[in-house]
Amino acid sequence: RTMSSSLDAYWMPFTANRQFKKAPRLLARAEGMHYWTDDGRQILDGVAGLWCVNAGHARPKIVQAIQAQAAQMDYAPPFQMAHPQAFELADRLAKLAPPGLNRVFFTNSGSESVETALKIAIAYQRARGEGTRTRLIGRERGYHGVNFGGISVGGIVANRKAFGTLLAGVDHIRHTHDPARNAFSVGQPEHGADLADDLERLVALHDASTIAAVIVEPVAGSTGVLIPPQGYLQRLRDICDRHGILLIFDEVITGFGRTGQPFAAQTFGVTPDLITTAKGITNGAVPMGAVLVKQAIHDTFMNGPEHLIELFHGYTYSAHPLACAAGLGTLDTYADEGLLTQAGELQGYFAEAVHSLRGCAHVIDIRNIGLVGGIELAPRPGEPGKRAFDVFLDCYERGVLIRTTGDTIALSPPLIIERGQIDQIVDTLRGAINRVA
Ligand code: PMP
Repeated sequence: RTMSSSLDAYWMPFTANRQFKKAPRLLARAEGMHYWTDDGRQILDGVAGLWCVNAGHARPKIVQAIQAQAAQMDYAPPFQMAHPQAFELADRLAKLAPPGLNRVFFTNSGSESVETALKIAIAYQRARGEGTRTRLIGRERGYHGVNFGGISVGGIVANRKAFGTLLAGVDHIRHTHDPARNAFSVGQPEHGADLADDLERLVALHDASTIAAVIVEPVAGSTGVLIPPQGYLQRLRDICDRHGILLIFDEVITGFGRTGQPFAAQTFGVTPDLITTAKGITNGAVPMGAVLVKQAIHDTFMNGPEHLIELFHGYTYSAHPLACAAGLGTLDTYADEGLLTQAGELQGYFAEAVHSLRGCAHVIDIRNIGLVGGIELAPRPGEPGKRAFDVFLDCYERGVLIRTTGDTIALSPPLIIERGQIDQIVDTLRGAINRVA
């Protein structure tokens, strides 16, 4: 079936989408590891939609849960009310989380989870009598969604330059990419705690008593799949502990099995104070996010002096019944099929496949952990991102969906992928890289 309606009314305010109307790529159906296009072509999904469909598409338990919930109760207000599935999902998420993070606040997206975590961090500092702690620290090349707080702590200058200064009192830890040591490259090969020393500089610069929280992605996804060296995240944890600063891990991409454990915090053995999630929480089927919060933070809000706790926060669609149903169906599917540890099982095979691209034209670095990979190409002079985008187009024409972040090709396939499908993705990619100029 081809599309009959016009594309004229549709708008996505994203500069890179300007070309899209000339060559729209229309997806009509999805199942398991595949999409089907509007004109009937089958596409192997190498990025789990947009890093979210971790269990593969249209999984029966998730579909059925959403259908049943829609018939049972479409909506329930989250203020002064709740519904049993919200409690059940929170409980099950807390059981998956690292120790101590057993309070769950529901949002509708990764961007909302980030805004929520930043607000909780600042309000918590005030509630415990540390009201001067209002500064936030992100990281160069961090990505934390598109809301105002998220682009402020985010490390992509291009995403915020149109909007002036944004949140006041935000700083960014320098990103030190040290290829000689493979730091931020192939899965944590070297000890690299010293690369986090820049946080010490910021603490000294501003005085620890002004800093509320540090937010980082354990593995940066949307800025090119950057894997921290051994010791880096632990060093951030140590500095935060020493200075009373909260540590937030943005696990919107890394959550739900991407690195071989439910959360990357567990893979790296570092426990933050808050974790932001979204995407894989409902397998992409219904918009949802959640912030996992340490019990002690929750207790301060619940038991601290009321005049210090003035926090109004919550969304109309927090803990939406359809999203909670989808979330429960998703966690069932992950559990039934052992998917939250599957990336660890496939990591070796996946690593070997993506590293077989070493030596291809233009390939300058290859990074991987669990079932996420980044293949960085040398940019075409004067055309940043274009070479990788041409690879994306070539792969799409040949039936494989990948993603580009700048000139890095990102892979994050559904965790149900089979070895032969890993080969298909990498072989298609090899052909595409060899074809592009
Ligand atoms: N944080 C991270 C680490 C992300 O990767 C993303 C989305 N790619 C977001 C936040 C924002 O999530 P959303 O698009 O659902 O708002």
